[in-house]
Amino acid sequence: MQRTLELLAELAGQAVPSCTGAVRDQLGRGWTPHQIADHVRSTGDPRTGSRNVAAVVRSRVEQMDTPAPPLPPKCTSCDASRMVELPDGRMARCPTCNPNRAAS
Ligand SMILES: [Zn+2]
Repeated sequence: MQRTLELLAELAGQAVPSCTGAVRDQLGRGWTPHQIADHVRSTGDPRTGSRNVAAVVRSRVEQMDTPAPPLPPKCTSCDASRMVELPDGRMARCPTCNPNRAAS
């Protein structure tokens, strides 16, 4: 949730607290934070042509009425939740197949 709002804030160039409810709905439907941000970005820069950027972002998230895209195939080097154990024992998102891996 917080990660999604951060990604959307980057897109909007400002915080988008009004998007919280719409984001929660889409996460509940299986969208990942990066998929939500990619979807908002896919229809153009939300900062273009509107003074109320947060409202544009919110409406785009609300109008995501398609099912969440399928996850990429799981690779063989991570566990069931697509996490890998780092050499120091910490867990991290699988860099190969986790849809929320650090790259944006
Ligand atoms: Zn993996």
